[in-house]
Amino acid sequence: FVEGLESLKDEPCITPDHYRLPLWVNTGLMTDAIRSLDHGAEGVGLYRTEVPFMIRERFPSEKEQEDIYREQLKSFAPRPVTIRTLDIGGDKSLGYFPIKEENPFLGWRGIRVTLDHPEIFLVQIRAMLKASEGLDNLRIMLPMISGVPEVEEALYLIHRAYHEVLSEGVNIQLPPVGVMIEVPAAVYQVREFARRVDFLSIGSNDLTQYILAVDRNNPRVADLYQPYHPAVLHALHKVVTDAHLEGKPVSICGEMAGDPSAAVLLMAMGFDVLSMNATNLPRVKWALRNIPLTDAKVLLDEVLEMDNPRVIRSAMELALRRRG
Ligand code: PEP
Ligand code: MG
Repeated sequence: FVEGLESLKDEPCITPDHYRLPLWVNTGLMTDAIRSLDHGAEGVGLYRTEVPFMIRERFPSEKEQEDIYREQLKSFAPRPVTIRTLDIGGDKSLGYFPIKEENPFLGWRGIRVTLDHPEIFLVQIRAMLKASEGLDNLRIMLPMISGVPEVEEALYLIHRAYHEVLSEGVNIQLPPVGVMIEVPAAVYQVREFARRVDFLSIGSNDLTQYILAVDRNNPRVADLYQPYHPAVLHALHKVVTDAHLEGKPVSICGEMAGDPSAAVLLMAMGFDVLSMNATNLPRVKWALRNIPLTDAKVLLDEVLEMDNPRVIRSAMELALRRRG
């Protein structure tokens, strides 16, 4: 069976009724990048820049960051690489930049930290832009966006960094910029965001936790952390519909995209890209190559009428098992 999956590496992700859905990967370290290429990834939907920051004892300099990002961009070129700006706070902290709060998941995290420290943000963007010279496969993504002013401020800083590096002689185009949809407030502002940026990407790990008010890391409430909860599924569906009304592509880069039964629903909802851990990619590809899009859409219609997460999960697993 595993060998069978291995042989799919160079095959496209295409359904029996010829619908093609690009499968990308999430990375953080160079080893992830190499493993992803082994698994036939078509791009990087989320490069978590916190990872290289976490394994150091101080903020990496602009030059160090440039080298780190260039290695990622280069190993995937010409495939697109989505580099997310620093997403610290919440469950991810840096020893050299401690954040102590009562409620870290509702506190100072992601874009909130970097907009309060534009010097960190600007250095990071400048490093990304410089790293992309001659490769042209960079996409910049902003985490934890909850309102239009954050998007506008971040875009202003990105333009500023772009003009700075241009004046230093770097020869690049302004890369596509996207926002993550991972807090409930963002679900209701997709059209406003979509008019200002080039793409959207759902962070379903955080979106699930915030919609259901269930800590994604607390074992005591782990049973309540349900990506198949109707509230989560309806939110995902709405985001895709609204992004497409503005003509903008939308991807998903939470763990959910790496679950074959969930991936079937996500394909039916119309996601333009699914981005997952490299380990899950062969299984997801196998599942999507065995289910026609028309069947997936019928399943989605049925599931959107259901009201129990456990029933939804078993219905999806059963549907997949029936296909082998
Ligand atoms: C998410 O929230 O789904 C996501 C992809 O980001 P992270 O897991 O890094 O918070
Ligand atoms: Mg997140």
